[in-house]
Amino acid sequence: MVSLKSELRFTVTSGIECWASLELNGWFNLMPEIIFLPKEKLYPRFGYALPLEQVAYVRKDLPGPVREFVTFHELYHLNDTSRWWVWREVKANVAAALKHPLGFIICVIMSLAPYRLKYYWKRLNSKA
Ligand SMILES: [Zn+2]
Repeated sequence: MVSLKSELRFTVTSGIECWASLELNGWFNLMPEIIFLPKEKLYPRFGYALPLEQVAYVRKDLPGPVREFVTFHELYHLNDTSRWWVWREVKANVAAALKHPLGFIICVIMSLAPYRLKYYWKRLNSKA
């Protein structure tokens, strides 16, 4: 998932002085970890991402296609540096929907449940 492209450059400037410039793409990126948790641990969420820790949590009780959609969605968050949370959600949803369209559709239908709508309402009002 995480590409670890590295480039090592050494430049010798004199016989005594030597410096090395080390460029490591993804040096600070840890391998992402996906943890599937029971519904009670994440409710009312379907998933949750901690970019600094490179950990994605996903509810394991979700139907297969939805679990795949949510997993992709949360993994997308791990490498997204956008600041505005609404934009982060739009991007993660579009990326995951393109990859898992059936999971997206079922997820939208499941999200019409009152507890999910209440969750979105709370979220919009607390961060808008
Ligand atoms: Zn999200």
